[in-house]
Amino acid sequence: MLPVLISSCLLGIKCRYDGGHSRVEEIIKRAKEMQFIPICPEQFGGLPTPRAPSNIVKGDGKGVLAGHARVINSLGEDVTEAFIKGAQESLKLARIIGAKEAILKNKSPACGLNTPYCEIDTGHGLGVTAALLLSAGIEIIEISPEEKITI
Ligand code: SF4
Repeated sequence: MLPVLISSCLLGIKCRYDGGHSRVEEIIKRAKEMQFIPICPEQFGGLPTPRAPSNIVKGDGKGVLAGHARVINSLGEDVTEAFIKGAQESLKLARIIGAKEAILKNKSPACGLNTPYCEIDTGHGLGVTAALLLSAGIEIIEISPEEKITI
């Protein structure tokens, strides 16, 4: 079994900013065949649940890691350090289990591979954790709970 990270909310864990989850039945079924570790980078960073939703300003997750973009929540608070810490803790777990792949939820400013909650010309950029995992050579499979998926 190949080790893999999975966004906790996709497994039905109520860790989303609004206190809900983004359960995907196909992932729950397939999880039994995987050696996986659930991750919620925003919680790993020390943020509460529920919490104010966040947006990356002046760039995307790559820009956050490079130090020129910030993550600001809807209350106007700067939560950049929490997002960076959550990404680092997620990468730490990936290295412990030797994960080369991560199944992450779309749209999130932490997990998303194409999050709209950022400010870049294309309109969609990397979440902070997605950016760090990619830079470490981990492949990301982005999951949209709204769509029928095959993994
Ligand atoms: S998308 Fe990622 S950061 Fe957001 S609730 Fe799910 S696991 Fe946590």
